Amino acid sequence: MEQLKLKGQSAIITGADSGIGKGVALAMAAAGAKITVNYAHNGDAAQELVDEIKASGGEAIAVQADVSKEHDVQNMFSKHLDAFGYLDILVNNAGLQKDAAFVDMTLEDWNTVIDVNLTGQFLCSREAAKLFIKQGIREGVSRAAGKIICMSSVHEVIPWAGHVNYAASKGGISLFMKSVAQELAPHKIRVTGIGPGAIQTPINKDAWETPEALNKLLTLIPYKRIGKTEDIGLLATWLASDEADYITGTTIFIDGGMTLYPGFVDNG
Ligand code: NAD
Repeated sequence: MEQLKLKGQSAIITGADSGIGKGVALAMAAAGAKITVNYAHNGDAAQELVDEIKASGGEAIAVQADVSKEHDVQNMFSKHLDAFGYLDILVNNAGLQKDAAFVDMTLEDWNTVIDVNLTGQFLCSREAAKLFIKQGIREGVSRAAGKIICMSSVHEVIPWAGHVNYAASKGGISLFMKSVAQELAPHKIRVTGIGPGAIQTPINKDAWETPEALNKLLTLIPYKRIGKTEDIGLLATWLASDEADYITGTTIFIDGGMTLYPGFVDNG
């Protein structure tokens, strides 16, 4: 029988009570990892996911933390260590949008998105890196001393009018991820990005909930289907596994071709 890809490992997944984070938590738990399901507000949804993971024979806890608050993040890492004793994987998934025309964008809209989407990844990654360096390589568990996965977006490279704060946060994640990867590689810590295209979750409900909206969205997707959270779960699990041991400092786009400039398909 094939060995589970993340057997004996444990992961913190931020914003795991919904959407992509939930898909990643289910996939990593199915691959043998013990999971901290982080949530900001919806404790019931987080507990339901914990129960689902346990019902399938996995191990998980739910931990409340606002990833943009230093104290909350440190507390989340302590709770994870109290429960599982070590950490192998961090998935920086928590994110949000506060959309507005550029000239109407308030400082609060700007700050909220940068605080959660970018500063949240900094705070969580810093705690994880300190821990990974202290732990070192756990022989027989993984070839790396730790893995950090940063949930980015196709808007790491595709400009997005009306979403300037969001696109800036994702563009920021790109060089954040690469710089941290460069700095931590000698410690045998791998840092990678995932750049989803359109994945069916609550964050982009307006873009898929009616047939008209979905058809419009599909004009941007050469592969002609919307992504599922399972697509991201499988990629994140593989990226965290030893099968991806030589991958660090790069974003993998998982977008049905959204970054292929589909507007040029019939000669622009
Ligand atoms: P979602 O709204 O279902 O999930 C976002 C999660 O982040 C929620 O659990 C939310 O509670 C959590 N969150 C928000 N603020 C938080 C905070 N301060 N602290 C902790 N958690 C917080 O949306 P999703 O689509 O699953 O988004 C997950 C990630 O994927 C985000 O980073 C998003 O930018 C990225 N992404 C999504 C898509 C897509 O098409 N759905 C595409 C590209 C990138």
